[in-house]
Amino acid sequence: MTISRFAPSPTGRLHIGHAFSALFAARAAGRAGGQFLLRIEDIDAGRCRREFEDAIYADLTWLGLAWERPVRRQSEHLADYRAALDKLSEISVLYPCFCTRKDITREIEAAGRAPHGPDGPLYPGTCRALSAGERADRLAAGAPHALRLDMARAASLAGPLTFSDRERGTIAVDGAGCGDVVLARKEVATSYHLAVTVDDAIQGVTLVTRGADLLHATHVHRILQALLGLPAPDYWHHRLLTGADGRRLAKRDRSLTLAALRHAGKSPAQVRAMAGFPD
Ligand code: GLU
Repeated sequence: MTISRFAPSPTGRLHIGHAFSALFAARAAGRAGGQFLLRIEDIDAGRCRREFEDAIYADLTWLGLAWERPVRRQSEHLADYRAALDKLSEISVLYPCFCTRKDITREIEAAGRAPHGPDGPLYPGTCRALSAGERADRLAAGAPHALRLDMARAASLAGPLTFSDRERGTIAVDGAGCGDVVLARKEVATSYHLAVTVDDAIQGVTLVTRGADLLHATHVHRILQALLGLPAPDYWHHRLLTGADGRRLAKRDRSLTLAALRHAGKSPAQVRAMAGFPD
């Protein structure tokens, strides 16, 4: 059975781009006679707000969407992410990173060159090179740190992998493009990459639909699935809606939030049509 999901973060109001994504996921499941799930990605307590979560439920319902219950709220499942981190730690693919953002910038400037990933320069690996003694001393002193994935080791343990994308076909996994991603931070006990991978498996998601801007992340998720012994879903990275200026929609496009469109008198059917789902 096809199980898809929409997984927004409650950090603001949903806009027409989110509506596209949600309708896309629901239609993919609906056409296959499957199930559509909703997940609230609220691990970053500093940025997520309950009022935005409530607005997500209201906006999606207004749009005509219905999802299977219960809704999975990531903040209620930190133990699942902890268990996954423990598993990764046992196979020695994690290391503590004590760098601040400033340290990383300085290191990259000093190196004079920096391979770039999708979110800017890749982490230069400073803390990967620390000796076991140095690491232990800093941990014992209570130095704040994040946990990073040693991507080269992770990729070599996982071996050659592929994932399947409904539009692009079979894609060979290349984790190096994302570098040593952060899997947990001192203030947030997990990261996007880890929580999404664990949740899609726990929720039995068989088809992950999301924007093509997250295609790079799937390489990381596929490696994590292999290391954690989780099943690999199919993927469908869809196009991103753009505004009248051709740029992708963002928080600045306030007139295109579902709330603003509703207040401007648009009906759910009109908004669905605007998002490209007239039926
Ligand atoms: N929460 C992510 C976002 O709002 C999407 C999660 C995913 O589909 O991987 O962009």
